[in-house]
Amino acid sequence: MVSQIRGWCLVLVSLLAWVPAAWAQPGAAGRSLEIDFIDVMGGAATLIVTPDRESILIDSGWPGLEDRDPQRIVHALKDLAGCDHLDHLVTTHWHTDHFGGVAGLTRRIRIDHFWDRGLPEDGDPRLDFPDGPKPGDPLGQAYRAASQGKRKALKAGDTLPLKGLTALVLASGGMVIDPVQRFGRSGELPLNPLCGEAPPDQAPDRSDNARSLALLFTLGRFQFFDAGDLTWNVEKKLVCPVDLIGKVDLYQVTHHGMDISNHPTLVRTIAPTVSIMNNGPRKGGAAATVKLLRSIPTIEAAYQLHRNVATRPEDNTEPALIANKDPAGGQIIRVFVDPDGSSFTVQMGEDGPKRRFASR
Ligand SMILES: [Zn+2]
Repeated sequence: MVSQIRGWCLVLVSLLAWVPAAWAQPGAAGRSLEIDFIDVMGGAATLIVTPDRESILIDSGWPGLEDRDPQRIVHALKDLAGCDHLDHLVTTHWHTDHFGGVAGLTRRIRIDHFWDRGLPEDGDPRLDFPDGPKPGDPLGQAYRAASQGKRKALKAGDTLPLKGLTALVLASGGMVIDPVQRFGRSGELPLNPLCGEAPPDQAPDRSDNARSLALLFTLGRFQFFDAGDLTWNVEKKLVCPVDLIGKVDLYQVTHHGMDISNHPTLVRTIAPTVSIMNNGPRKGGAAATVKLLRSIPTIEAAYQLHRNVATRPEDNTEPALIANKDPAGGQIIRVFVDPDGSSFTVQMGEDGPKRRFASR
């Protein structure tokens, strides 16, 4: 039985084994698109499971701590989503809080495909690697060993080979998608009227953050944007002078909510309905970012994984939208998108309150 459905989540087994969360969701019987914002304490680990039960993890959290983050990820993947392996692991960039969990994950689950922004040994002359992974770095060694023969570099304009969900790479290695590729030769390029008021550029970011993958996921009318830790100047290139993103429904607040990211023109342009910040108690969650999100008229709910304990309560979102009251964390935020993409539900924790939103 298991071998017959290898390559898929255990849909039938999950249903027979009773997965209360799945029954509680719109779309019924677990056929929603699920997006789980796993708490990895200021790192990143966003799990997507498509209506066809294909699994995609964007970033794998921190290393060490007795595999805390791999364990949290595997719990979401197996116990909540009912999958027995990971189809795709996407690593947005080479920082510890984004690819540190790979070794711990591969000890626990099978990972079929690895996607990243490239490695030095790929020999792409357009790319540089300011922050490694250097050949002797144990995390780099673990990633290379785990992904050998199964990895591919993504450049702007590429898509992930998913069934029933579009995943378009809008930025990679500091470069953004070509406007003609985005909109076609015959289409008019959407010049962005907000660019005239854009704040000035910052000093060039020499770190790997600026080289992050940025991905746009589309299911029907529903759109989700995850840009890893992309920073200011490249964020601006995504929306100025041409808006290469468009409006989105769900925004993973970039770079854990730091204010060297979340360029105001980008956030105003994508005009999300819901934002979810993967901050930690002492990482990200900048007061300026919270203020910016509050100023975006389209945002109906701005969620945070944690309260930033270093800022005032009023510099955080409203308490009901914070998943972890305890700084030790571990509480997830789950999103269930109707199979046709027409609406989505955000759930606090594994069985907490839910709120429904219409897609654009
Ligand atoms: Zn990060």
